[in-house]
Amino acid sequence: MDFALTPEQQRLQTEIRTWVDAEIRPQAEHLDEAGVYPLEIMRSAAARGFTTITLPAAYGGMGLGAIEECILMEEAAAASAIVGISLITIYQAQTMLQLYGGERVKAHFLPQFREGLISSYALTEPRHGSDIRTLDTKARREGEGWVLNGRKAFITSASAAGLFVILAETDAGVTVFVTERDREGIFLETPDRSETIGLRNGPHMDARLSACRLPEEYLIGTEGKGVRQAVVVLDHSRVAAAAISLGIAQAAYTAAERWVMHRKAFDQHVFDFQGIQWKFADMRIAIEAARLLTYRAAWLLDQGQLPIEASSMAKVYASEVATKCALEGMQVCGLNGISVSAPFGRYLRDAKAYEVAGGSSEILRNTIAKEIRKAYKGGRRE
Ligand SMILES: Cc1cc2nc3c(=O)[nH]c(=O)nc-3n(C[C@H](O)[C@H](O)[C@H](O)COP(=O)(O)OP(=O)(O)OC[C@H]3O[C@@H](n4cnc5c(N)ncnc54)[C@H](O)[C@@H]3O)c2cc1C
Repeated sequence: MDFALTPEQQRLQTEIRTWVDAEIRPQAEHLDEAGVYPLEIMRSAAARGFTTITLPAAYGGMGLGAIEECILMEEAAAASAIVGISLITIYQAQTMLQLYGGERVKAHFLPQFREGLISSYALTEPRHGSDIRTLDTKARREGEGWVLNGRKAFITSASAAGLFVILAETDAGVTVFVTERDREGIFLETPDRSETIGLRNGPHMDARLSACRLPEEYLIGTEGKGVRQAVVVLDHSRVAAAAISLGIAQAAYTAAERWVMHRKAFDQHVFDFQGIQWKFADMRIAIEAARLLTYRAAWLLDQGQLPIEASSMAKVYASEVATKCALEGMQVCGLNGISVSAPFGRYLRDAKAYEVAGGSSEILRNTIAKEIRKAYKGGRRE
């Protein structure tokens, strides 16, 4: 068992930190206020290989693993969770294509990510959020391909995406498709609910599909197995989501620590009050526990396992710890925590949004409970 990053991982972390300090941190407040997609930052990320860390070298990627992806997410999100969620939707599409795409589709789309291709992951519909076992978006076979009709909702990164992973229902059940943005029959719309309090990387748009024709090979994986495939991809991206929450938690902690160490009240530094020290001790415990859960889940992924329980535990815990650290940070800084010029409001909004996005805490607790039951019945509890 080894808890240290390798020298190569440490070098990558330093490289990412340098990039984050130069290009993301100075923009973080502006991105949140404007609620726009960080296009220039994502172009820079692609040029440096940061959008293709886990992509095999054959497709132009770095060929590294989930731990390296987590390092990227944690470091980027410590400056801006908006950049974190913008990265996640790219990695989700890559994972879906890598795991389930046919050779032709992979050879066509995957190398484009190194050139700056941006993608979105469209599961949700106006009537289907947590429950995607049936969908209102339908796909029917026509000639050599497919025709899609329906509406996908709340699609992150849609304002900039050139590629969409879409879930639609065929006669065999829910099925995964991919499509370019500029295909006939796709209309992006911005309904009122598309603006969120956190993770504001542009509007979370709807895609209306009206007789949208796709070639046969744009069906990804197995017809009717779309829910399973989408959940497997989410098991991967949940670990990255946990790393983003960890970045937010660490950022809130660091900002609060800096303040209480020099702010004085009653002739002593605020940190010197025991009641305040205990808050910091609790935050440290929670952040370290979240870090261990997150990197263990990433390690399991890198061992070739699908860590359903571990990734769910990491995401639930890290997102809730991020919310807690944002609130505690705000409290211990007093007026300077509540001020709009302080970053705690942004941390709180981003952290809270991640308790819902990518699988809500309730649904993930259900998943953990299912794994508990399975393990108990199988008699294999460690
Ligand atoms: C910032 C953000 C970005 C998003 N980006 C995307 C995206 O890019 N692509 C995409 O497809 N979707 C996206 N979503 C949608 C997200 O996946 C859904 O919000 C999420 O799956 C929950 O669905 P819902 O909001 O419809 O809630 P519902 O499914 O309507 O649930 C409402 C509440 O009931 C709870 N609940 C539901 N079922 C159960 C149950 N069985 N047991 C206990 N509690 C339950 C939920 O946890 C929730 O608290 C995004 C959401 C957010 C907030």
